[in-house]
Amino acid sequence: MDCISENDMDMLRDICSGDVLQGVDLSDISHWRIGGRAALVLRPSSTTEVAALRRWFYQRGMAHLVIGKTTNVLFADEGLHVPCIQIGAVMSKLSIEHGEVYADAGVWVPGLSRTLMLNGLTGGEHLCGIPGTLGGLICMNGGSNSRSIGGNVISVESVDSRGSIVERDAKECGFGYRSSIYQTNDEIVTAVRMRFLPGVCSAIRVEMLKDLANRRRKFPLKEPSCGSVFKSSPGIYADFGPPGAVIERLGFKGMRVGGAMVSPKHANFIVNTGRAKAADVLEIMKSIRDAVYAQTGYLLEAEARYVTPGGKVLPASSVL
Ligand SMILES: Cc1cc2nc3c(=O)[nH]c(=O)nc-3n(C[C@H](O)[C@H](O)[C@H](O)COP(=O)(O)OP(=O)(O)OC[C@H]3O[C@@H](n4cnc5c(N)ncnc54)[C@H](O)[C@@H]3O)c2cc1C
Repeated sequence: MDCISENDMDMLRDICSGDVLQGVDLSDISHWRIGGRAALVLRPSSTTEVAALRRWFYQRGMAHLVIGKTTNVLFADEGLHVPCIQIGAVMSKLSIEHGEVYADAGVWVPGLSRTLMLNGLTGGEHLCGIPGTLGGLICMNGGSNSRSIGGNVISVESVDSRGSIVERDAKECGFGYRSSIYQTNDEIVTAVRMRFLPGVCSAIRVEMLKDLANRRRKFPLKEPSCGSVFKSSPGIYADFGPPGAVIERLGFKGMRVGGAMVSPKHANFIVNTGRAKAADVLEIMKSIRDAVYAQTGYLLEAEARYVTPGGKVLPASSVL
């Protein structure tokens, strides 16, 4: 990272009211428990602070990136040499009026799902087991049970690379299967306006409990992972089934490289058994992708995103 002086650190602390941390071990804070050291992690508490941080970096020509709860990212073993803005608990206000929900990007998704249920709003049941932030969910257009958050979005507030606040309607967000414009436009999502329909609290609760029980049965939730490593696609699904089933049939369950292992419970999960390196995970992913291609003719695309030491966030399949 370009040298950050003590004076710079004082300025950043003046802008950012949350944590401003140097030399953070990413294997301590990342969900996969993998990664080298991050030079600088900043945790702003408002859109205004995000905008001021981005302006500060822009004026100095400093690359930086955004992360949420890190449940879908793989950090490089070499660490992260540029500043990282982490949107999380200190930026998580939420209000509800007439079925319209206005939430900060740091809202924890299972908490959002529960709040919707308590307010008698249906449509967020499928989110109850997704362990990330709302900002990460919007960027990934996450969801489950054939649903995605994009279907509930009215508008998204973000901050562009120069520090200007942008407001986009749902149709301008480019929502597609596990994708959105925020994967490529270098904007940081800061708040989201969503609509959910009235429902019966007890029925919503039953749906959520069913979903959570299903996840406990199907997914290896005790070991660190990033959830499903590879995306499904209509083609492979129609011809061969979901990626997990295809990978399982090829005999990958239980395959290990270093500390990383294809989960014996679900073949589309790669778990960290203790001391996995990013290189171990990438080696397994490459073996799986090559074998699936040889068998089916489909090239799997990663849902997991790889963070380079220079702060680029790419689909992990693009670095295999
Ligand atoms: C056990 C487990 C189960 C999972 N199940 C599901 C599931 O059922 N469905 C599903 O869709 N996903 C699932 N996931 C994946 C993951 O939880 C989601 O993709 C989640 O939405 C990512 O949120 P995050 O805050 O952790 O984002 P991160 O992992 O921190 O970041 C993911 C991407 O979003 C970007 N990003 C993060 N915050 C922002 C922001 N504020 N503005 C702009 N970009 C941002 C990052 O740069 C990165 O590119 C699962 C993961 C695990 C570990």
